Amino acid sequence: MNTQGIILRKYDFRESDSFFSVYTLDSGKVEAIARGVKKPKTKLGGHLNFFSIIDLRIAKGKIFNHIAGAVGQKNFLNIKQDLNKINLAFYCLEVTNYFVNLEKKDKRIFYLLKEILEILDSKNNQKDKLLNYQYYLSFSYFYILKLLNLLGYKPELFNCLKCQKDILLSENNYFDAIGGGIVCEKCKSKEMFKINFEIIKFLRLILEKELHDLQKENITSEQQKELIKTTDKFLTYRLDREIKSRRFIVKNSH
Ligand SMILES: [Zn+2]
Repeated sequence: MNTQGIILRKYDFRESDSFFSVYTLDSGKVEAIARGVKKPKTKLGGHLNFFSIIDLRIAKGKIFNHIAGAVGQKNFLNIKQDLNKINLAFYCLEVTNYFVNLEKKDKRIFYLLKEILEILDSKNNQKDKLLNYQYYLSFSYFYILKLLNLLGYKPELFNCLKCQKDILLSENNYFDAIGGGIVCEKCKSKEMFKINFEIIKFLRLILEKELHDLQKENITSEQQKELIKTTDKFLTYRLDREIKSRRFIVKNSH
């Protein structure tokens, strides 16, 4: 099979081989072994890099698939030069690897993944270092929300989760992270937290628009924080183990 792929994860495997989890355009997530890539200066190993679009030839096997050929097509070099961006990109890759099933093709996921790498690779003109970091942090969260949406974990943002009443932005609303959506004032319970109408509007926008188009939207840093908190809670209840790379982005966001 010839296809394009983006590496999600790399594992050590045998003495000189590596085992890759790759999101491919034509087969979704595929796991495959690359032989001999740990030896210095191998042709194959030089192309199997993180944060790259790679043209791959994958030989399907009975037990293991093998990567028979790889040519790097696009390298997102700005990510590789910035530790914050590396951490955010690894977080997006790890969440993707966690949620997507093996060999379930969805081209939208491939293009969304490509889009977040392009955004992380882009330059942002914020002068302040923290604001700059928050910009990329927000986009990583927008990515995660859009990914979860494509995988069928869409938060309910229009009707109260409990009584189905239309959510009115003029009233007080609450976020139910366990149920996965908004509830009205009457249906709230103590584990839910109040959610600002601006955040509800922004969450709706994230799910409606392309990732790139969100670059034009204005959001204050307070709103960003609230959005991240909401997404974190939503995500936590949909995981059964910790996403390891999360600790690096949390440490940096304070
Ligand atoms: Zn209700």
